[in-house]
Amino acid sequence: MARDDRLIAEVAARRDELVALTQALIRIPTLNPPGRHYREICELLQARLAHAGFACELLRAEEAPGDSDRYPRWNLVARRDGARAGECVHFNGHTDVVEVGHGWSVDPFGGEVREGRVYGRGACDMKGGIAAAVVAAEAFLAVCPDFAGAVEISATADEETGGYGGVAWLAERGYFAPEKVQHVIIPEPLNKDRVCLGHRGVWWAEIETQGRIAHGSMPFLGDSAIRHMGAVLKEIEERLLPALAARRTEMPVVPEGARASTLNINSVHGGEPEPEEGFDGFPAPCVADRCRIVIDRRFLIEEEIGAVKGEIRALLEGVREGRPGFSYGIRELFEVLPSMAPADAPIVRHTAAAVERVLGRPPEMVASPGTYDQKHIDRIGRLRNCIAYGPGVLDLAHQPDEWVGIDDMVESAQVMALVLGGILAR
Ligand SMILES: [Zn+2]
Repeated sequence: MARDDRLIAEVAARRDELVALTQALIRIPTLNPPGRHYREICELLQARLAHAGFACELLRAEEAPGDSDRYPRWNLVARRDGARAGECVHFNGHTDVVEVGHGWSVDPFGGEVREGRVYGRGACDMKGGIAAAVVAAEAFLAVCPDFAGAVEISATADEETGGYGGVAWLAERGYFAPEKVQHVIIPEPLNKDRVCLGHRGVWWAEIETQGRIAHGSMPFLGDSAIRHMGAVLKEIEERLLPALAARRTEMPVVPEGARASTLNINSVHGGEPEPEEGFDGFPAPCVADRCRIVIDRRFLIEEEIGAVKGEIRALLEGVREGRPGFSYGIRELFEVLPSMAPADAPIVRHTAAAVERVLGRPPEMVASPGTYDQKHIDRIGRLRNCIAYGPGVLDLAHQPDEWVGIDDMVESAQVMALVLGGILAR
């Protein structure tokens, strides 16, 4: 049998193992925030990978944001060297999951299997993807024991909260340096028939307008920060949003609506605070002296971050010139630059060929509207030969009754095994 056929059969034979590993991962409730049970999930994967001959390092991201003795940020990096020197293919998956939320009809940490699906928080985002990568690597080692180069698998913390205690921390310490790792696949749930090349950029900032408090019966004696913010919102609504919507990218972002620049107003706070729960009295009459909004600006690879920020500052200056008494402050929260692997990068070509072999059709090339850990691998690690490819339907991520399809996991694990074969067993 040809190598590819043997790899495909070897993964198919491990279907039950793949389901069992996914269930075991789901049953460890690695909720983030605050970042629970990272050590347990790393130890589970460490035991599994050590058995397959991987050298494992368990690393705590000390002093990373969120790391504490109560909630330590543990990460696992596992490496299996081949018989000869060669390139390294690395699979990176985040172990954290977001809060459960309401509306579940199954136990979110039960790992229930029903009608060809495994259910649970993190099933698709992205414990099914981690399990698929592990099983793909094991199948590859069984079929191609004398491969050249190395296979690495990392399980990392905190992706959902920015990745600073996970991939960013590892990248800063050289774990994704191009001399060490040459190809990266992040098995995020982008669907088994899509290759995700990268993501848009992000800039978050808080804007505050300032006024003067007075009695609400004589508002003319004060200066309402909420009315000033209204003028800012009007500019955003009438000028900025149409301008952003008209700015289109060459990045293949899905869904289609995200193929333009966007801005979300994440929150508005002004005037009297929300009453405490249980308080049923009335508000006091005051003119608001402070109003704040938080903006979440997603920008395109064609845009420069300096121009993105400058556009907001120019908008605020424009309001100030036309509006007596207007004063404002702006506080930058964080930023992420866009990242995109070249469409002809080796990992893209190998993965596309493997998808075509397993599914019988070429993959769709996409980019993500939001960011994920690729930013750190690209911007800190300086490795652009990185994609996201993995099982699961992105729309189900963070939803109640999250699930991952067993067939999807098997097929994407077959793709990953073929990628290993294509790069390391030549
Ligand atoms: Zn994810």
